[in-house]
Amino acid sequence: MNNQNQIPKSWYGKRYYSLDAYCKTVYQEKLYKIAIDAGLTCPNRDGKLDTRGCIFCSAGGSGDFAVSGRTHSSVSEQLEAGKALFHGKPVGTGWIAYFQAYTNTYGSPDYLYRIFHDALSHPEVRGISIATRPDCLGEEILSLLNTLLLQFPEKFIWVELGLQTMHEQTAAFIRRGYPLSVYEEAVTNLVNISVPVITHLILGLPGEQKEDFLATISYMNRLYERQKLLAHPHRAIPMFGVKLQLLHILRHTDLDLLYQKNQVSVLSKEDYIDWLISGIETLSSEIVIHRITGDGPKNILRAPLWSLDKRNVLNSIAHQLKVQDTWQGKEYHGSTHNGTL
Ligand code: SF4
Repeated sequence: MNNQNQIPKSWYGKRYYSLDAYCKTVYQEKLYKIAIDAGLTCPNRDGKLDTRGCIFCSAGGSGDFAVSGRTHSSVSEQLEAGKALFHGKPVGTGWIAYFQAYTNTYGSPDYLYRIFHDALSHPEVRGISIATRPDCLGEEILSLLNTLLLQFPEKFIWVELGLQTMHEQTAAFIRRGYPLSVYEEAVTNLVNISVPVITHLILGLPGEQKEDFLATISYMNRLYERQKLLAHPHRAIPMFGVKLQLLHILRHTDLDLLYQKNQVSVLSKEDYIDWLISGIETLSSEIVIHRITGDGPKNILRAPLWSLDKRNVLNSIAHQLKVQDTWQGKEYHGSTHNGTL
């Protein structure tokens, strides 16, 4: 069989199963995200777990692109302000309200219900995506999400978890603040209420080599297969997704201090593309890739500066996938999974 025939047409010309392709297939159009700042904080910053945060996290709490919650108080105001930023671009009619900054399930259930309900009530919002930590998804929060899903059956709720790596040693170094078992429990609980999970992974974390990153990709495959085994026989397993992101050194972070003392380094563009392509080809073709490169905020990005030319990076990745004649899942040969991780 010709290799081209092995790449699904539903991937719309890409060599991986992108978020774009997923939205076009499921919602018949590309959906754009509007990042919301809900004015929350994070237990890794407010002292509950730590006051310093993850070592790579900027003062904006990984929400440097969010519409400011300080100048636009309500979620609907932020959505309108966010829409205005796309002025003149052909963006269609559907939006995803992306609760991005800090930990968006770390607040009182009443407040969280109000902001999520506000976003889901917006007629042009197809759904919401909530970035949070797996240790902030207790029973009350899960029940709140379940209630909202029942109230808005035609809309979706996704949850994004910043796992970054499966390796406990790296997790301790970056001060992630929870063990892998907490993440696994959160994924199972979310899948049980049919909430899709998107896991953030970082390429090039301090001390990690390519094989460590590929071990995390392999773990994603096993986790996905396990969820399929655990899924209710009459309920489809919700979409699983990953966001793949290069390690950025942002100014005034603890990682920046280590970088300036030459104690950590960043990946070259060539190495990043090499790691990424190996990750893509060993990832199950059923897992949606929401992102293959990150957006380091220009004004605070110290390194690697090559990542600022995002168009060039994306073109180089597409070119290299073609040169190597490879695609997502090409080197993933299924799983004889027995339910263990
Ligand atoms: S959990 Fe997120 S918001 Fe909190 S310190 Fe880490 S990266 Fe920043």
